Amino acid sequence: MSDRRAEVAENLTQVRARISAAAFQAGRSAQDVSLIVVTKHFPASDIEILASLGVRDVGENRHQEAQAKAGATDGLDVRWHFVGNLQSNKAAAVAGYAHVIESLDRAKLVHGLARGASEANKTLDCLLQVNLDEPEVDAGGRGGARPTDIVPLAEQVMAAEGLRLRGVMAVAPRGQRPLAAFEKLVEVAAKVRRVDPTATWISAGMSGDLEEAISAGATHVRIGSAVLGQRPQIK
Ligand SMILES: *Cc1c(COP(=O)(O)O)cnc(C)c1O
Repeated sequence: MSDRRAEVAENLTQVRARISAAAFQAGRSAQDVSLIVVTKHFPASDIEILASLGVRDVGENRHQEAQAKAGATDGLDVRWHFVGNLQSNKAAAVAGYAHVIESLDRAKLVHGLARGASEANKTLDCLLQVNLDEPEVDAGGRGGARPTDIVPLAEQVMAAEGLRLRGVMAVAPRGQRPLAAFEKLVEVAAKVRRVDPTATWISAGMSGDLEEAISAGATHVRIGSAVLGQRPQIK
């Protein structure tokens, strides 16, 4: 086994144990929590290692990098989650290789995503990204729709051909207790389920706060550094 493979395998074992322990604590089944490994800044060779270790879902936050890696690992049985800020002029292109868009946060993206999905002849899973900052705080480009804008956005996604509304996603804001933030997200998720009862996914929790997310009810956690180590800097 290569050193890198051994390191990733060890980290993955630890993260899976953390997920199991958090699920147990919350009285939930670990099988109800899906792991997405966020591979941004790491090479395509790491995705091959992850796939060989049973990881089926990977996440990326930048279009160019994601597109290149999806191309380089074509043939691997992994699903690509786009988790980053999405520009509307890139939406159709991202829909070409992504299986899940987790960062759908404005109506302007719906048309491009639907067009890309239709061109690729597929149905694209969509999560609405919720901005959990206090109303007076500027999101500072972190993205996400305000909770009050989520239901109208959900209705637009539901009406779009080729898009399947799956649920919600959020990043815990700095300066808030993650558990309180994730509980807010769970309330927004319930509102979305009143519009579409099948939209049951709640993507929350990263390396530092996956326990709080699972305790609040996350169905998907997005883990980068705890599996792959500290991200290499990219210029
Ligand atoms: C990078 C990233 C993650 C993973 O973060 P870690 O702290 O490395 O686990 C999760 N979600 C999003 C949206 C990200 O950009």
